[in-house]
This record gives sequence, C-alpha cells and structure tokens, in this order.
Amino acid sequence: MKAVIATKDKSVEVVKKELRPLKHGEAKVKMEYCGVCHTDLHVKNADFGDVAGVTLGHEGIGIVTEIGEGVTTLKEGDRVSIAWMFESCGHCEYCLTGRETLCRDVKNAGYTVDGAMAEEAIVTADYAVKVPENLDPAAASSITCAGVTTYKAVKVSEIKPGQWIGVFGVGGLGNLAVQYAKNVFNAKVIAFDINDEKLELAESLGADIVVNSLNEDPVATAKEVTNGLGLDATIITAVAKTPFNQAIDVVKAGARAVAVGLPVDKMDLDIPRLVLDGIQVIGSLVGTREDLKEAFQFAAEGKVVPKVTKRPIQDVHDIFEEMEQGKVTGRMVIDFAE
Ligand code: NAD
Ligand code: ZN
Ligand code: ZN
Repeated sequence: MKAVIATKDKSVEVVKKELRPLKHGEAKVKMEYCGVCHTDLHVKNADFGDVAGVTLGHEGIGIVTEIGEGVTTLKEGDRVSIAWMFESCGHCEYCLTGRETLCRDVKNAGYTVDGAMAEEAIVTADYAVKVPENLDPAAASSITCAGVTTYKAVKVSEIKPGQWIGVFGVGGLGNLAVQYAKNVFNAKVIAFDINDEKLELAESLGADIVVNSLNEDPVATAKEVTNGLGLDATIITAVAKTPFNQAIDVVKAGARAVAVGLPVDKMDLDIPRLVLDGIQVIGSLVGTREDLKEAFQFAAEGKVVPKVTKRPIQDVHDIFEEMEQGKVTGRMVIDFAE
C-alpha cells in the first residue's frame, strides 16, 4: 500500500509499506480521507525531533476492514477516525482524570506511531472514535484534529455566551475555532490574521470582526469594541511569536489566553501585566476521545462546516509546500479514492 512518510532530509515521500498482522485489541482501517495539518509540517521539519520513516497523518477517516482478537468496541464496516491522540496508558493520573492527552505514555498518530496518511492503517480499537452517520467523511477528517483541538480550546477559554473571544490565526484550525466559538458557545468573535483571503473566509463563517494585524493594530481594535476593557479570552493558533504576544495584550484583566499553535519559539510575558491583571496563559493539546465525539456531533448537526479541498496522494509534496508558503485556505485533504 502507499504511505506518506517523513524523510531524513526533512521532506515527504510516497513509499510502499506493508502492515504487520493485527495484535490483540487492534483493528485495520481502509482510509478514505486524511487531512494535512500544520503539525504534519512540524513533524516533517523535525521541529519536535527526528522521526524519519514514520507514516504521517492524524486527520484520518476510514472504514474498519478487519478486527483483531478481543475487540469489542468496533466491527467491520464501522467508519472511524485516526487522531493525534492515538492511545494512552489508561491507568495513570492523567488518564484517570479526563486528561488522557497529557498521559506520559501517550502514542501519537503520525509522530510516535504510524499515522493515517496511508491507504491502510492499524488502530487501537478502544481509541478510534466512531464518525456519526450523517457527517460527510471528508469534513470529518478536519474535525479529527483541527475541529476537536479548537472545540477543546474554546472550552478551556471558559468563554461565556455574548462575551468577546479573539482567534489569532484563522487557517485550518482557526476557521473552525471561529465556528465553534460562534455557533456552539454563542460568543462574539474577532479574527486576527495577516492574510486577507483567510480573513475573508473567517468573515463568511460568522466572525463579527476581522483584523489584518499587518495594517491594523489588534490592541486598538480589541479595546474599541469592548469599551476600552479588552477581550474576554483569546485562542492562538498562528504559527508565529508576535500573535502570541498580541493575544496577551488584547485581553482584559482576569482573562484566559489559550495557546494552541506550535511555533518553535518563546513568547514574552510581562510579569507585572500577568500578575497585576491576573492573566491566565494555558496550553491546550488536541482533545480527549469524549471531546472528539462532541466535536463530531456539532459538525453532524451542521453547526460547524469545515472547508476542505480534496487532493490525490501524489499531490502531497505540493500540499506541504503550499502550506509552508501560507497558501492553504481551510484544509487540504488527501482523497484515497482518487
Ligand atoms: P495553518 O497553516 O492552516 O494556519 C496558520 C494560520 O496562522 C494561517 O492562517 C496564517 O496566515 C496565520 N498566521 C501566520 N502568521 C500570523 C501572524 N503573525 N498573526 C496572525 N496570524 C498569523 O495551520 P493549522 O493547521 O491551523 O495549525 C496551526 C498551528 O496549530 C500549528 O503550529 C499546528 O502544529 C498547531 N496545532 C496544535 C494543536 C494542539 O493540540 N495544540 C493541534 C493541531 C495543530
Ligand atoms: Zn493536527
Ligand atoms: Zn496514562
């Protein structure tokens, strides 16, 4: 079968791979779609360490074609997702307190184990979240990482209906953050980006205000719409340092800034601002299986509609290049039927 791997020279390659036989508790999945997340770009570039040879991909959607011994939660024909949260130990402090993504023994698809950018994949059955029947599978691929991550980040922000939330970076993740914040949490949304095409998409998806941070001061606009107070919360999905700093500058006292994007950098935190204004800065990592189930359900109800473009697997080099150059609006999704 064909699989997309990260290579030693920080590129991607389509290679032939064979799957090993299933072990206890595992299932085989024939892939329909796999989205390309900016995290795949970080993995390819060895931003978090060299994992050359691993099959990339953690926005996989496919059909179960075989189940291993002991599998009780899946059957042949089920449509399932393959997410970054691939498996955790199930018995540590984090796993037992609803924070399984922080498990120290967690396995991540397309990073520490082979992922979903392949015609077939092996999953740990208990961790492969099922896709609702009325959700389009290509759209479901985007929910599997971009959707669940931003849904969880909005939860973590503790935004209340009618409050103002700022979303920094409205790419693959950010456009879904706008939709979850607006249509599920009933917040008012300001979208910040440096690319007008992405801001147009955010506006068409319901952002109340869009700001191009290159031509307009994010802090001035945030103050203007909130009678000088500042925003109630922010989510940062942009892959740059500046928006991380801006996301602190635009919030009001007591607010939460939720860090999601992964630029390999440090943010500047003004200590008196942090302490005297009681600002909370919180990292948020994908979501649990339960978060994904909820995120799928809202998409199935039409509250969140991912913008996806289907591409054949042989386009994978181009897709990574387009993403690196900031040219992808919404998500590029590999279509394994093509
Ligand atoms: P993307 O490339 O689709 O989107 C990034 C967006 O940031 C683009 O719209 C870009 O124009 C915008 N941007 C760049 N510089 C900016 C700036 N200075 N100010 C405002 N906006 C700016 O990427 P994506 O797939 O949405 O992923 C975003 C980041 O989130 C990546 O670093 C990815 O690894 C990370 N991520 C984190 C998690 C998590 O669990 N925390 C999950 C998935 C992805
Ligand atoms: Zn991702
Ligand atoms: Zn654990």
